Amino acid sequence: MIDFNRPYLSGNEEKYISSALQRNKISGNGEFTKKCHSIFEEKYDFKKVLLTTSCTDALEMSALLSDIKEGDEVIVPSYTFVSSALAFIRERATIIFADSCINHPNIDVDQIEPLITSKTKAIVVVHYAGVAVDMDKVIALAQKYDLIIIEDAAQAIDSFYKGRPLGSIGDFGTFSFHETKNIQCGEGGLLAINTPKFNKRSEVLWEKGTNRAEFFRGEVNKYGWVDTGSSFLPSEITSAYLLAQLESIDKIQSIRKSLWEQYYNELQQLEKAGYLTLPIIPDYATNNAHMFYLILDSIETRTELISHLKSNGVHAVFHYLALHKSPFYKEKYHGGDLPNSIKFEKQLLRLPLFADLTNAEVSKITGEIKSFFENVK
Ligand SMILES: *Cc1c(COP(=O)(O)O)cnc(C)c1O
Repeated sequence: MIDFNRPYLSGNEEKYISSALQRNKISGNGEFTKKCHSIFEEKYDFKKVLLTTSCTDALEMSALLSDIKEGDEVIVPSYTFVSSALAFIRERATIIFADSCINHPNIDVDQIEPLITSKTKAIVVVHYAGVAVDMDKVIALAQKYDLIIIEDAAQAIDSFYKGRPLGSIGDFGTFSFHETKNIQCGEGGLLAINTPKFNKRSEVLWEKGTNRAEFFRGEVNKYGWVDTGSSFLPSEITSAYLLAQLESIDKIQSIRKSLWEQYYNELQQLEKAGYLTLPIIPDYATNNAHMFYLILDSIETRTELISHLKSNGVHAVFHYLALHKSPFYKEKYHGGDLPNSIKFEKQLLRLPLFADLTNAEVSKITGEIKSFFENVK
């Protein structure tokens, strides 16, 4: 079976974890965490970063830092992972769901302005598949209406918008290092804080509402409870693992991009024949090869293709049931239909993509897709 995902190991994970164990310092914010912080800040121009135990955590921190309260409205795309909305629901915000573009799962930036009211506090954008949302339009709206921008960049490490790293553009950028992401540590995340007024409070929320960070820098002579917060920081074991991945990111990215290109080239003839639609990368965006997906003509075709692939040893998956229709939110939702979100829910299919996938496996997969359209269907 060709798995949908296999977590890639760079080779130094065990060595770095052993070294963390030998130091007898495996709680958070130690040497490995600091090393990851400085690499992220230098490589991607993030003003300040904090490792977290997940992207969900980083989103929760951004909700707390944005001071989201009951009655506030937060605009979130409907076609995304639960966490993009969950972090704000926990602070009792009302989620205003927005539709995707017609030809891309990203939020349709031209449909945001009518959703803004006097209660709107923030806009969450998700760079789906690591492909940038058209941020200039989002920034213009945020300036006009005084809104906070949160980039859910969970899938978007090492990707760019007009040359700017994703996650460095909004007030906050949140990343995931879950095992399905380009670089990973099982469960892990990162919060990039790009608006300096949030720096000090971010450190407090990160360490259980205490001013421990100031204490360790020698800025105060004792530390205590000064604010809300949680335990958002990962242990050094997680950071050590992540450092090994981060040091290999260029290699990982180059393998993933070449596999992505291979899929694209080998499936182009099926797109030309009208059987499916391949992903689009707008001029302002780069491709970080987080995901290779297809858009099919109907949910029936998708279901049949998944089962054809499965019976031929390939595990392909779909994801994201539109959040505005979810069991948890549908009663609370009072907005319009979001037809593009529903379209991607029904018609998008993800193919296996991970750094250990071989060229022969990609050819086998594209071969099975061709045989499905040309012989089976
Ligand atoms: C993976 C993902 C998340 C959640 O990441 P965790 O690290 O598992 O919390 C959130 N948003 C999007 C868009 C994702 O792809």
